Amino acid sequence: MSCVSRIVDCPTLTSVTNRWGTATKTVSLCCRVCGRYFPASRFDALTCSSTCRQRLRRGQDLAYLNGLPERQQQAEREFHAANDRLIAAHRNAGAAKHKVRDLK
Ligand SMILES: [Zn+2]
Repeated sequence: MSCVSRIVDCPTLTSVTNRWGTATKTVSLCCRVCGRYFPASRFDALTCSSTCRQRLRRGQDLAYLNGLPERQQQAEREFHAANDRLIAAHRNAGAAKHKVRDLK
């Protein structure tokens, strides 16, 4: 499994209908533990399932990199680091928007 090699054929934003019949947007993200792409309704989701969330809590961040060549591991780490910066920037933008709204 590798996030970087499969990023091209991965849909970025799709509209789906949830179980209550409401249209929601999901974004395809790469799981930090198993390396599979999964549809997420939150932009800052890190893991695909409760199993991977638990594995992440137990210190198995980027566990899927084991067995990959060193060069590919580095590319995957850079990919996730860039994703982390994107999430942080998104959160900062949201916080700034709230601050401006509070000042009014
Ligand atoms: Zn996973």
